[in-house]
Amino acid sequence: MALQWYPGHMNKAKNQVQDRLKLVDIVLEIVDARLPFSSRNPVLEQIIDQKKHIIILNKSDLADPKVTNDWKINFQQEGTKSVELDAKHNKGLGQIKSLIRSELADKIARYEKNGVQNYRIKAMCIGIPNVGKSTILNRLVGKNVAITGNKPGVTKNQNWLKTSIGIDLLDTPGILWPKIDDPKVGMKLALSGAIKDKIYAPDDVAIYALNFLETHYMDQLQESYGLTNSDIFNHTTPELLMDLTKKFGYKEDYDRASRRIIDDVRKLKLGRLTFDVPGEFYEE
Ligand code: GDP
Repeated sequence: MALQWYPGHMNKAKNQVQDRLKLVDIVLEIVDARLPFSSRNPVLEQIIDQKKHIIILNKSDLADPKVTNDWKINFQQEGTKSVELDAKHNKGLGQIKSLIRSELADKIARYEKNGVQNYRIKAMCIGIPNVGKSTILNRLVGKNVAITGNKPGVTKNQNWLKTSIGIDLLDTPGILWPKIDDPKVGMKLALSGAIKDKIYAPDDVAIYALNFLETHYMDQLQESYGLTNSDIFNHTTPELLMDLTKKFGYKEDYDRASRRIIDDVRKLKLGRLTFDVPGEFYEE
């Protein structure tokens, strides 16, 4: 992992998030739109308790737009509103503002009724490593700021950043751990590039990817690699990896072919893909 998570770190990270939660009106939970289930922290809902909360599906430029929409409906049905964002290209910030204001409508109405002038809405970003918290913070602030304490276990004084969407944001995002117990989640995080490549064998990740593509993105798989139905249906997934290795001209260098497939997925050579499917990720 980009960060190694041990029980001690997890506890510290959790305590820090809980301390800072007291300071804010609303939590912006950042997830990777390609992994709206796998890139969530398993206990975040518990940690934030009754605090208002929205989900930001970041990196939406990389995800399958139809599935992103399905996820938004899924989250809404579970009682949490979400919004998609492409922080890299600065698309979708305005919607975050409207969603925050609608979630805090009661509080804002109270301020206005009581004649409170210049009230500030306070928020913090929370998410697992690599989902784009720092990028979002910089986008919201409109300039590059040094993000303090961007590591679990680092305590710093809190500073408030004024943002372009009229909220004050804690300058230190809350960093929590992914669902580290679930091997499938590990594969998906590896495939997306969220965790260091050396943690997993490339052929395991590539076979996982090919299998997922066979099930969910068959057309893209066939088109990208010039495969026929029989190339796929008459072969097991490891055999497909071996066939592709030959096709790429890599002889028997399966690791090289695996790294290429992983890279192709990340660089959108197979189009925009989402690896978590609402309602289905338990049965893959
Ligand atoms: P953090 O660990 O959550 O603070 O994540 P970072 O902000 O450091 O982002 C991790 C990587 O994701 C960086 O390479 C960013 O450029 C990239 N990134 C962040 N947001 C987006 C986005 O919306 N789209 C794409 N394609 N990449 C993004």
